[in-house]
Amino acid sequence: MITLTRHLAAHAARRVDDCSEILSCLCGWTADDEQIDFGKVGSGVLAQEGAQRAAHVAATWQQARMITDEAGLDALPSGAVDISEAHGVAEQKIGEAWFSAASNQSFEPELPGVVVWTPADGGDQ
Ligand SMILES: [Zn+2]
Repeated sequence: MITLTRHLAAHAARRVDDCSEILSCLCGWTADDEQIDFGKVGSGVLAQEGAQRAAHVAATWQQARMITDEAGLDALPSGAVDISEAHGVAEQKIGEAWFSAASNQSFEPELPGVVVWTPADGGDQ
């Protein structure tokens, strides 16, 4: 499972080349300048391109961390935290079982869900 650090590195911002004004991403994504409102007060082209890129990075991150089947759940390490789309509540894998803060009974998480943290992401749980 990809970590946030690696994801951000894979989607680092760049300009296509030295003469290009279009913001792009290492993955090949480019900002859509047709979506830019050049007359927008208080939000220049760079800010609007940056917002497009932020939305792209967030969407690809969610996709990269989406679990859609049981094999995906089984492959997660103990300690991983998932939020199922159905419930929106954090669920943590402890050993081979899943728990939420709402109950001390283990359960099978509903799918799909997004993995929000694994031990490989580091930091505090
Ligand atoms: Zn990208």
